[in-house]
Amino acid sequence: MKKVLTTCEFCGCGCNFYLGVEGGKVVAVYPSVSHPVSRGMLCIKGWQGHEYIHSPKRLVMPLIKERGEFREASWDEAYQLIADRLKQTRTQYGNDSIALLSSAKCTNEENYLMQKFARAVIRTNNVDHCARLCHASTVAGLSATLGAAAMTNSIDEIENAEVILVTGSNTSEAHPIIAAQIRRAVRQKGARLIVVDPREVPMTKYATLWLRQKPGTDVAWLNGMMHIIIRENLWAKDYVAQRTEGFEELKKVVEKYPPQVVEEITGIPQDRLAEAARLYATARTAMIFFTMGITQHTTGTDNVKSIANLAMLCGKVGIESGGVNPLRGQNNVQGACDVGALPNVLPGYQSLADSKVVKKFEKAWGNKLPTSSGLTVVEMIKAAEEGKIKAMYIMGENPMLSDPDLNHVAQGLKKLEFLVVQDIFLTETAQLAQVVLPAVTFAEKDGTFTNTERRVQLIRKAVEPLGEAKPDWQIIAELSSKMGYHMGYDHPEKIMDEIAQVTPSYGGIDYERLENGGLQWPCPNKTHLGTKYLHKGQFARGLGLFQPVEYLPPAEVPDEEYPFILSTGRVLYHFHTGSITRRAQGLAEIYPESQVEVNPWDAKKLGIDDGAMIKLTSRRGQLKVSAKLTERVPQGLVFLNFHFAEAPANILTNPALDPIGKIPEYKVCAVKVEREAEQ
Ligand code: SF4
Repeated sequence: MKKVLTTCEFCGCGCNFYLGVEGGKVVAVYPSVSHPVSRGMLCIKGWQGHEYIHSPKRLVMPLIKERGEFREASWDEAYQLIADRLKQTRTQYGNDSIALLSSAKCTNEENYLMQKFARAVIRTNNVDHCARLCHASTVAGLSATLGAAAMTNSIDEIENAEVILVTGSNTSEAHPIIAAQIRRAVRQKGARLIVVDPREVPMTKYATLWLRQKPGTDVAWLNGMMHIIIRENLWAKDYVAQRTEGFEELKKVVEKYPPQVVEEITGIPQDRLAEAARLYATARTAMIFFTMGITQHTTGTDNVKSIANLAMLCGKVGIESGGVNPLRGQNNVQGACDVGALPNVLPGYQSLADSKVVKKFEKAWGNKLPTSSGLTVVEMIKAAEEGKIKAMYIMGENPMLSDPDLNHVAQGLKKLEFLVVQDIFLTETAQLAQVVLPAVTFAEKDGTFTNTERRVQLIRKAVEPLGEAKPDWQIIAELSSKMGYHMGYDHPEKIMDEIAQVTPSYGGIDYERLENGGLQWPCPNKTHLGTKYLHKGQFARGLGLFQPVEYLPPAEVPDEEYPFILSTGRVLYHFHTGSITRRAQGLAEIYPESQVEVNPWDAKKLGIDDGAMIKLTSRRGQLKVSAKLTERVPQGLVFLNFHFAEAPANILTNPALDPIGKIPEYKVCAVKVEREAEQ
């Protein structure tokens, strides 16, 4: 059996494993024992998720829609049609009438080419990807406070942390291997764990303290902790004086959040909040981990700023086993951001507003570039609905399940004059396209992913592409050449060399140097060994900036008509919109259909039995799904995953946006819960 070392294509942990190949097919998976993250472990998705690679439902030929039906086409015919229609749209309506979605599932090289195609070929900054829907507020919040939008520390530092604070993260299900490291730190090294979460997530079993806040009240408890830390003189005075600015402004704001006020807003008992504040502030090393429970709010950027404020106040950033650590959801969401698949920055987060930067890229790419910021994911769909966006090109994303308020997403996409989707399956979004291009899986191509701890790692081709499917980088390059802008790359390695030339933080990265476990950026030159933790000695922005924020309630709160809060998220066995994991037999068999978590007391009042079909209704839509009665959710809260098209959670969610990060409020919307009438 041939064994090919590669990087997992699911979550941002970035585990490595060997794909076992026999007869041209992936038939087995073996974890890599020497890998710094996985250390010989894998979660069930790593073990079994690969079964979709050889699915008979894979796209194997380009498809063109005629009279409402798809027919197979040659690559040349598909490219010609796309090139003609995009050029025609540009001539008729202008460059900014076209929008492009890149993908956190694709490689760095593919994301780099997609944003280059948008900027240098289509000449628009309307390019974005699903980071907008998970960590846009992290990018905004950490850039403003620390000056770098990434996890500050490394996964292997977890075992030496004295205190670990996990909030808004169901780590055991969304980042299982990081959860395993946290459990090991608690059980074998005596770390004390604080979990702050409205749900009784599995990690609460290992917690010294579990604080159960009301959904959407994070700024209040974070300000409350800082209030106590300042009042009890537990803050890091020298660190704050030497390394930060804005402390007096912070102090003024957090003064307004004494524990009794915080208890009224959040429901967290005063003594528990004080205990958590003391535990965190007095630890020598303490790491904070968070995910979408923090970011997916209209106050997402404020929440992230508050976390950074707390960590700086206690001197916990810029040290080993410390820091502010957003866990990135998808395999390459960090990398897709790093290489510029965002509407307001060029690769390496270099500003579109800086004329020197723009000139550098114009010289490198040989074309004039647009300089005004483009539209974000949700804004693109809204603009399509309003008739301002006329054509979209979507690579590897499925907004028909992933975006909020799906009825409006469908209206927007149906109103487009031209839609191209490039994917491995005929997803819900691809079904609406005029042209569908067959891409390949991670096992059929070379490239790199960047995991949540900024580790750039190789993926290696193990099997040949199915049918006529091609890697996304090759499709973009060929289409670009068809449109008159030559992209002559013959291998992704050449694309990485170009990324390194224009992106300072990737400056020292090349494929040869990535052979043994990857490199963590910043890695500015060929002799640099990569960076284990950020902000050592000095913050990326110079001084760390306290950005005090006031508590604001969620955009939609329960009322008489919609008395429950709906929160959405993941389950262990599935990933994103389920387009991959639901086609992996082993996973689909374990978790075959969606379930909504309902508290047993609420269920009793509503006459709902375990497993019964119930109806959830919000101001935007309704769906039916079976109920799972569990005390994991408190009374008044229901929790639904977003993996199943049959019960699409986002038909209900609120598209209200965080004003800075432009991330939708997936974590709180008001719903009605009803027993479904028996037939
Ligand atoms: Fe893959 Fe994440 Fe599971 Fe590791 S933890 S095997 S990266 S899904």
